[in-house]
Amino acid sequence: MEKKSNLWEMTLSQLDEVAEEINLDENIHQILRHPKRCLTVSIPVQMDSEKIEVFTGFRVQHNVTRGPAKGGIRYHPDVTLEKIKALAMLMTWKCAVVGIPYGGAKGGIICDPKKLSLKEIEKLTRRYVSEIISFIGPEKDIPAPDVNTNPQVMAWIMDTYSMDVGYSVSGVVTGKPISIGGSLGRDAAAARGVMFTLMNTAKKFKFDPFEKTIAIQGYGNVGENLAHLLSRQGYKIIAISDVAGGIYNPKGLNPVQVSLALKDSGSVIGYKDGQRITNQELLTMDCDILIPAAVENQITEKNAGEIKTKLIVEAANGPTTPKADQIIKERGISIIPDILANAGGVTVSYFEWVQGLQASFWTEREVNLKPRDIMQKAFDNVYRVSEKRKVTMRKAVYILAIERVAEATRIRGLYP
Ligand code: NAD
Repeated sequence: MEKKSNLWEMTLSQLDEVAEEINLDENIHQILRHPKRCLTVSIPVQMDSEKIEVFTGFRVQHNVTRGPAKGGIRYHPDVTLEKIKALAMLMTWKCAVVGIPYGGAKGGIICDPKKLSLKEIEKLTRRYVSEIISFIGPEKDIPAPDVNTNPQVMAWIMDTYSMDVGYSVSGVVTGKPISIGGSLGRDAAAARGVMFTLMNTAKKFKFDPFEKTIAIQGYGNVGENLAHLLSRQGYKIIAISDVAGGIYNPKGLNPVQVSLALKDSGSVIGYKDGQRITNQELLTMDCDILIPAAVENQITEKNAGEIKTKLIVEAANGPTTPKADQIIKERGISIIPDILANAGGVTVSYFEWVQGLQASFWTEREVNLKPRDIMQKAFDNVYRVSEKRKVTMRKAVYILAIERVAEATRIRGLYP
């Protein structure tokens, strides 16, 4: 029985709103409302106890008009087909907005990886891949890590696929370990993209970012890398949090020490040179730039009225609910939306795929710098749409992405 998820309805209504705004051809609108392909698979796994447990997995390809499908695989108890459909559609828009030649996909398995041994996760991964194998491939659909999946899981996917076809295919996944064709610079790519977005925002909104105070919620791959990158550039970060709580110092925090505290104590709250705060206090604190980099649904109708910042840069996916979005808009706070702000991750995934297909690898410097132009171009285009149509950056991002996918659909025509 499928659990309810309103993310799919939200994603569809965003598409419907934009379709109306841009007068989208009704036939193309209908095509875009439907995922191209939704696969549900049963995954029997022999557990360490010898008992067989059957898991459910999904792979959804929303659209492949602009190129092969691209999107992560998540292992989580809250995975549902509807959520995966929504995330696949968002990937279509994200790839279109940064102009990389991919469509959108997403996959997932309903499971709690915290309760599984490494061996069980490996078996689960390999059997899942074997169940979806005819739908993935470097020219068809290229998975990547997402919640609770990592380079090791990508290595098992690459190995299972390669064993099936009989030769090594590194381009079947991105986010792989470097030793089997992963890209240098992939780890911090999403964070670096957020930093480029912040720089682009400062240029367009005409402020000096070095004079601004920054609060970051979440200190994982994105939040921690971002704090280090920003601090090295001279930005002032006054608050940081993770799931256990946050720390605040109006004079600025030192991310190197924060990371050491995290390593020693398991949380950023082990950092001594700051005052303890809660995640709610971080979100509503007096700061110039707020960067949610943790999980979805953090800025809600309950706290949107209390938010004091003037600018939110969404590093996490879906940190702001639609109702909160409306309140924030009315309060004159600007939001740089997730599918633009965190697109640095998928951009470097694209570079990893290109390097794999060419069997030629780039230096870390090349990988780090190339997304800057891509992110800047995307930002400028979105900003232009927002000015021209007098809409928020969020609306503008969807307009730009949907127009691009619609144009590709129109020009290719309908088969047969
Ligand atoms: P992660 O699991 O490495 O880190 C998540 C961080 O958020 C941790 O510090 C965790 O303690 C904290 N956290 C979790 N729940 C929280 C809560 N309720 N309140 C406050 N903090 C909480 O994840 P990540 O890879 O850094 O991803 C963060 C966000 O960025 C996600 O929304 C993800 O989808 C998005 N994103 C990640 C990438 C990437 O390449 N990693 C790319 C694009 C977007």
